[in-house]
Amino acid sequence: MPGRLNLVILGKQGAGKGTQCSRLSERYSIPHVSTGDMLRAAVQADSRIGREVASILDSGELVSDKLVIRLVADRFQQPDARSGALLDGFPRTIAQAEALEDMLGDDGIKLCIDLDVPTELATQRLASRRVCQECGSIYNETDVEAISGTCSKCGGDVIQRADDYPDAIRQRLAAYERDTEPLLNFYNTRGLLVRVNGDQSPDDVTVAIQSVISVRGLA
Ligand code: AMP
Repeated sequence: MPGRLNLVILGKQGAGKGTQCSRLSERYSIPHVSTGDMLRAAVQADSRIGREVASILDSGELVSDKLVIRLVADRFQQPDARSGALLDGFPRTIAQAEALEDMLGDDGIKLCIDLDVPTELATQRLASRRVCQECGSIYNETDVEAISGTCSKCGGDVIQRADDYPDAIRQRLAAYERDTEPLLNFYNTRGLLVRVNGDQSPDDVTVAIQSVISVRGLA
Protein backbone atom coordinates (compact mmCIF):
# COMPACT_ATOMS: atom_id res chain seq x y z
CA MET A 1 0.00 0.00 0.00
CA PRO A 2 1.16 3.53 -0.62
CA GLY A 3 2.63 4.98 2.51
CA ARG A 4 3.44 7.90 4.65
CA LEU A 5 4.25 11.10 2.85
CA ASN A 6 1.82 11.57 -0.01
CA LEU A 7 2.02 15.17 -1.20
CA VAL A 8 0.11 16.81 -4.02
CA ILE A 9 1.80 19.73 -5.75
CA LEU A 10 -0.72 21.89 -7.58
CA GLY A 11 0.07 24.91 -9.70
CA LYS A 12 -0.18 26.17 -13.24
CA GLN A 13 2.10 24.74 -15.85
CA GLY A 14 5.29 26.79 -15.52
CA ALA A 15 4.85 27.29 -11.77
CA GLY A 16 8.01 25.26 -11.12
CA LYS A 17 6.37 22.01 -9.92
CA GLY A 18 8.87 19.77 -11.75
CA THR A 19 11.90 21.55 -10.33
CA GLN A 20 10.54 21.51 -6.78
CA CYS A 21 9.42 17.90 -7.00
CA SER A 22 12.85 16.64 -8.02
CA ARG A 23 14.42 18.49 -5.08
CA LEU A 24 11.78 17.31 -2.59
CA SER A 25 11.95 13.77 -3.93
CA GLU A 26 15.67 13.67 -3.06
CA ARG A 27 15.22 15.39 0.28
CA TYR A 28 12.45 13.06 1.55
CA SER A 29 13.37 9.92 -0.44
CA ILE A 30 9.97 9.59 -2.03
CA PRO A 31 9.36 9.14 -5.76
CA HIS A 32 8.40 12.04 -8.00
CA VAL A 33 5.28 10.84 -9.79
CA SER A 34 4.60 13.10 -12.77
CA THR A 35 1.75 11.94 -15.01
CA GLY A 36 3.01 14.32 -17.73
CA ASP A 37 6.45 12.62 -17.65
CA MET A 38 4.83 9.17 -17.66
CA LEU A 39 2.64 10.05 -20.64
CA ARG A 40 5.56 11.60 -22.55
CA ALA A 41 7.63 8.47 -21.87
CA ALA A 42 4.79 6.36 -23.32
CA VAL A 43 4.75 8.56 -26.43
CA GLN A 44 8.55 8.26 -26.78
CA ALA A 45 8.33 4.48 -26.42
CA ASP A 46 5.55 4.42 -29.04
CA SER A 47 3.51 2.13 -26.77
CA ARG A 48 -0.23 1.57 -27.25
CA ILE A 49 -1.04 4.23 -24.64
CA GLY A 50 1.57 6.52 -26.19
CA ARG A 51 -0.07 6.33 -29.62
CA GLU A 52 -3.47 6.95 -28.04
CA VAL A 53 -2.41 10.14 -26.23
CA ALA A 54 0.26 11.70 -28.50
CA SER A 55 -1.97 14.19 -30.29
CA ILE A 56 -3.82 15.11 -27.08
CA LEU A 57 -0.53 15.96 -25.38
CA ASP A 58 0.58 18.11 -28.30
CA SER A 59 -2.70 20.03 -28.24
CA GLY A 60 -2.50 20.79 -24.52
CA GLU A 61 -5.89 19.20 -23.75
CA LEU A 62 -6.30 16.67 -20.95
CA VAL A 63 -6.26 12.91 -21.55
CA SER A 64 -9.12 10.89 -20.07
CA ASP A 65 -9.50 10.55 -16.30
CA LYS A 66 -9.78 6.79 -16.69
CA LEU A 67 -6.41 6.46 -18.41
CA VAL A 68 -4.41 8.59 -15.96
CA ILE A 69 -6.12 7.09 -12.91
CA ARG A 70 -5.05 3.63 -14.14
CA LEU A 71 -1.52 4.89 -14.76
CA VAL A 72 -1.21 6.29 -11.23
CA ALA A 73 -2.84 3.23 -9.62
CA ASP A 74 -0.23 1.04 -11.37
CA ARG A 75 2.57 3.36 -10.26
CA PHE A 76 1.46 3.06 -6.64
CA GLN A 77 1.93 -0.71 -6.87
CA GLN A 78 5.69 -0.24 -7.28
CA PRO A 79 7.75 -0.78 -4.09
CA ASP A 80 9.29 2.71 -3.97
CA ALA A 81 5.83 4.27 -3.57
CA ARG A 82 5.41 2.52 -0.19
CA SER A 83 7.12 5.46 1.50
CA GLY A 84 4.84 7.97 -0.19
CA ALA A 85 4.88 10.02 -3.37
CA LEU A 86 5.14 13.55 -4.67
CA LEU A 87 2.29 13.92 -7.10
CA ASP A 88 2.98 16.39 -9.90
CA GLY A 89 0.29 16.98 -12.54
CA PHE A 90 -2.12 14.57 -10.82
CA PRO A 91 -4.88 14.96 -9.78
CA ARG A 92 -6.04 17.48 -12.36
CA THR A 93 -9.80 17.05 -12.09
CA ILE A 94 -12.19 16.45 -9.19
CA ALA A 95 -12.83 12.92 -10.53
CA GLN A 96 -9.09 12.22 -10.33
CA ALA A 97 -8.87 13.67 -6.80
CA GLU A 98 -11.73 11.43 -5.67
CA ALA A 99 -10.13 8.40 -7.30
CA LEU A 100 -6.88 9.24 -5.52
CA GLU A 101 -8.66 9.30 -2.15
CA ASP A 102 -10.13 5.88 -2.93
CA MET A 103 -6.70 4.54 -3.89
CA LEU A 104 -4.93 5.79 -0.77
CA GLY A 105 -7.59 4.98 1.81
CA ASP A 106 -6.77 6.04 5.36
CA ASP A 107 -3.17 6.68 4.52
CA GLY A 108 -4.25 9.54 2.30
CA ILE A 109 -2.91 12.83 1.11
CA LYS A 110 -1.01 14.62 3.90
CA LEU A 111 -0.65 18.01 2.25
CA CYS A 112 -1.46 19.87 -0.94
CA ILE A 113 0.88 22.69 -1.94
CA ASP A 114 -0.52 25.30 -4.32
CA LEU A 115 2.53 26.72 -6.06
CA ASP A 116 1.12 30.07 -7.03
CA VAL A 117 2.42 32.19 -9.94
CA PRO A 118 0.75 34.89 -12.08
CA THR A 119 -0.43 33.69 -15.50
CA GLU A 120 1.93 36.06 -17.35
CA LEU A 121 4.94 34.62 -15.54
CA ALA A 122 3.81 31.04 -16.20
CA THR A 123 3.38 31.87 -19.90
CA GLN A 124 6.83 33.43 -20.10
CA ARG A 125 8.49 30.51 -18.33
CA LEU A 126 6.82 27.91 -20.57
CA ALA A 127 7.68 29.76 -23.78
CA SER A 128 11.36 29.96 -22.82
CA ARG A 129 11.60 26.39 -21.46
CA ARG A 130 13.73 23.79 -23.22
CA VAL A 131 14.04 20.17 -22.13
CA CYS A 132 16.41 17.28 -22.68
CA GLN A 133 14.59 14.52 -24.52
CA GLU A 134 16.75 11.87 -22.84
CA CYS A 135 17.00 12.77 -19.14
CA GLY A 136 14.30 15.44 -18.80
CA SER A 137 16.66 18.17 -17.53
CA ILE A 138 15.07 21.58 -17.85
CA TYR A 139 16.87 24.57 -19.38
CA ASN A 140 16.05 28.15 -20.34
CA GLU A 141 16.25 29.28 -23.98
CA THR A 142 19.28 31.43 -23.10
CA ASP A 143 21.26 28.51 -21.58
CA VAL A 144 24.18 27.16 -23.55
CA GLU A 145 22.52 23.73 -23.69
CA ALA A 146 19.43 25.23 -25.34
CA ILE A 147 21.52 27.17 -27.84
CA SER A 148 23.75 24.21 -28.72
CA GLY A 149 20.84 21.73 -28.53
CA THR A 150 22.91 19.31 -26.41
CA CYS A 151 22.32 18.38 -22.76
CA SER A 152 25.41 18.92 -20.56
CA LYS A 153 24.27 16.13 -18.19
CA CYS A 154 23.66 13.27 -20.63
CA GLY A 155 24.44 14.48 -24.16
CA GLY A 156 20.77 14.11 -25.20
CA ASP A 157 18.95 16.46 -27.58
CA VAL A 158 17.61 19.64 -25.96
CA ILE A 159 14.33 20.67 -27.58
CA GLN A 160 11.25 22.85 -27.15
CA ARG A 161 8.26 20.68 -26.20
CA ALA A 162 5.43 20.80 -28.73
CA ASP A 163 3.08 21.89 -25.95
CA ASP A 164 5.37 24.80 -25.02
CA TYR A 165 4.45 26.68 -28.23
CA PRO A 166 2.02 29.64 -27.81
CA ASP A 167 -1.30 28.02 -28.89
CA ALA A 168 -0.75 24.95 -26.73
CA ILE A 169 0.36 27.11 -23.78
CA ARG A 170 -2.91 29.06 -23.98
CA GLN A 171 -4.85 25.78 -24.18
CA ARG A 172 -3.04 24.27 -21.20
CA LEU A 173 -3.49 27.31 -18.97
CA ALA A 174 -7.19 27.44 -19.90
CA ALA A 175 -7.55 23.74 -19.05
CA TYR A 176 -5.84 24.40 -15.72
CA GLU A 177 -8.28 27.18 -14.85
CA ARG A 178 -11.30 25.16 -15.96
CA ASP A 179 -10.48 21.70 -14.62
CA THR A 180 -7.81 22.02 -11.96
CA GLU A 181 -8.52 25.24 -10.05
CA PRO A 182 -11.63 23.65 -8.46
CA LEU A 183 -9.19 21.30 -6.71
CA LEU A 184 -7.97 24.21 -4.59
CA ASN A 185 -11.34 24.26 -2.91
CA PHE A 186 -11.44 20.44 -2.73
CA TYR A 187 -8.21 20.34 -0.69
CA ASN A 188 -8.95 23.54 1.22
CA THR A 189 -12.17 22.13 2.66
CA ARG A 190 -10.14 19.12 3.84
CA GLY A 191 -7.68 21.43 5.64
CA LEU A 192 -4.83 20.23 3.42
CA LEU A 193 -4.15 23.23 1.19
CA VAL A 194 -1.19 25.57 1.70
CA ARG A 195 -0.34 28.28 -0.82
CA VAL A 196 3.34 28.95 -1.55
CA ASN A 197 4.51 31.91 -3.62
CA GLY A 198 6.16 30.45 -6.75
CA ASP A 199 7.37 33.86 -7.89
CA GLN A 200 10.66 33.70 -5.99
CA SER A 201 13.97 31.91 -6.51
CA PRO A 202 13.79 28.09 -6.72
CA ASP A 203 15.85 27.87 -3.50
CA ASP A 204 13.43 30.13 -1.63
CA VAL A 205 10.46 28.10 -2.89
CA THR A 206 12.10 24.87 -1.68
CA VAL A 207 12.76 26.39 1.75
CA ALA A 208 9.14 27.58 1.98
CA ILE A 209 7.76 24.12 1.12
CA GLN A 210 10.13 22.34 3.49
CA SER A 211 9.13 24.65 6.29
CA VAL A 212 5.42 23.84 5.73
CA ILE A 213 6.24 20.11 5.80
CA SER A 214 8.19 20.52 9.00
CA VAL A 215 5.68 22.83 10.75
CA ARG A 216 2.96 20.28 10.03
CA GLY A 217 5.14 17.57 11.54
CA LEU A 218 5.08 15.51 8.36
CA ALA A 219 8.83 14.86 8.18
P1 AMP B 1 2.32 18.26 -17.75
O1 AMP B 1 3.72 17.93 -18.06
O2 AMP B 1 1.93 17.92 -16.34
O3 AMP B 1 1.94 19.68 -18.10
O4 AMP B 1 1.41 17.30 -18.67
C1 AMP B 1 1.53 17.32 -20.07
C2 AMP B 1 0.23 16.85 -20.69
O5 AMP B 1 -0.05 15.50 -20.28
C3 AMP B 1 -1.02 17.62 -20.30
O6 AMP B 1 -1.19 18.79 -21.09
C4 AMP B 1 -2.11 16.60 -20.57
O7 AMP B 1 -2.36 16.44 -21.95
C5 AMP B 1 -1.45 15.31 -20.09
N1 AMP B 1 -1.68 15.07 -18.66
C6 AMP B 1 -0.73 15.01 -17.67
N2 AMP B 1 -1.28 14.73 -16.50
C7 AMP B 1 -2.61 14.62 -16.71
C8 AMP B 1 -3.72 14.35 -15.87
N3 AMP B 1 -3.58 14.17 -14.55
N4 AMP B 1 -4.96 14.29 -16.44
C9 AMP B 1 -5.12 14.47 -17.77
N5 AMP B 1 -4.12 14.75 -18.62
C10 AMP B 1 -2.86 14.82 -18.10
